[in-house]
Amino acid sequence: MIADYARGDVELPADTVWALESHLETCAPCRGRLAAAVPTEAPGIAALVDSVRAGLEPQLAAAVRAPARRRRPRWVTAWLTPVMAPWLAMTAAVTLVALLLDGAAPSATLGSPSPVLLVAPVLPLCGVAAAWSRGLDPAHELTASTARAGLPLLLRRTAAVLGVVLPGLLVEGWLTGAMTAAQWLLPSLAFTSAALALGTVVGVTRAAAGLAAVWGVAVVAPAWFTQRVPVVLETSLLPLWGLVLALGAGAVIARRNVYSAL
Ligand SMILES: [Zn+2]
Repeated sequence: MIADYARGDVELPADTVWALESHLETCAPCRGRLAAAVPTEAPGIAALVDSVRAGLEPQLAAAVRAPARRRRPRWVTAWLTPVMAPWLAMTAAVTLVALLLDGAAPSATLGSPSPVLLVAPVLPLCGVAAAWSRGLDPAHELTASTARAGLPLLLRRTAAVLGVVLPGLLVEGWLTGAMTAAQWLLPSLAFTSAALALGTVVGVTRAAAGLAAVWGVAVVAPAWFTQRVPVVLETSLLPLWGLVLALGAGAVIARRNVYSAL
């Protein structure tokens, strides 16, 4: 297979090539085999690489060294992209503002919804929008062309977003004391899975922004005026959110191959 790969054999199926490249990433002996195969299997490429090296080497020796970059730990780059950091910071700031609003205007009338409860269901969407974005990530083409791109990477980044957002919300929900965790946790997860599922049709960023906008117009704004906990967040409707979560997850699984397309 390595010999075929070195020749650039177009008969190799795409999934085989991906599996091979992903294996080569982690297996030094096979990389050695590939290096040994290139001169015999593809002498043209070996000659080209040698001539490029011969041309570049004098220039590289004369070039100014790039300043050393701060290296991030491997586990950070495996779970997050640098562009997600400001979005996650913004999400944390929004929860903090909601908590401050909650403290500044304690519910005078019984049953007035806490701002934390109103924003909690759509908060993960901010991070999810940045997790798989063409416009925000300057390196998206590089990421999309790697062997591991697609749904696994998207789920990994979404998990990172939830890992940051949910503990913050849990603490704030406990501090405000006005709501149970299930009241916002299920809607949060339902919105996240719906954004991933809709993302196969309109793009994850657009899906997340659209869902957040719909939530703002249809639920938050009326709740603000009526001073009541929105009907959709009442505990009796939790099974419905569970159903949305299951449908979203089902749609993501059914369309798992779509995510690897640019
Ligand atoms: Zn190997």
